[in-house]
Amino acid sequence: MIEHHVRMLLTFGPDRQTREFTCDCCNAPIERAWDFIYADGAPHAAYFANCYHHTDRDHDAWIDVIFGTWGGGSDQWSDHVAFACRIGPVVGQTTPASTLVTAGLAHPDGPLFGLKLDREAALQHPRLNEFWKVSDFILENDPLVLGHIYGH
Ligand SMILES: [Zn+2]
Repeated sequence: MIEHHVRMLLTFGPDRQTREFTCDCCNAPIERAWDFIYADGAPHAAYFANCYHHTDRDHDAWIDVIFGTWGGGSDQWSDHVAFACRIGPVVGQTTPASTLVTAGLAHPDGPLFGLKLDREAALQHPRLNEFWKVSDFILENDPLVLGHIYGH
């Protein structure tokens, strides 16, 4: 088991991708970005950020972050664990709030996501702090999420 340093230098992987979908509930566009997050130069987590433009609700972003062993083939994916949060505006606040939600709701079950934590399980998981570090990094640095949350 790798020891994780308290301070890790987080960076994006070399292959960030984006795609646009149509929302099932209102036909508004959903923009998705995904990539790896590297820590100290090595793959640390994968993320999927979905930015919603529902016509009748707040503009929010749902971020799934998956931790586990990377680069060894699918037989090494048994340790994967997924967290997720919703980031959205709060009435009366200039900064958005992040709330833990069930991971992987918009994604099929499978070895990539591994164990999808719900809010209660995430709150008790030893990697929760790592998740918040990664999700903060995405919020502050992924151009799609940044523009979606702060651009309106
Ligand atoms: Zn919608």
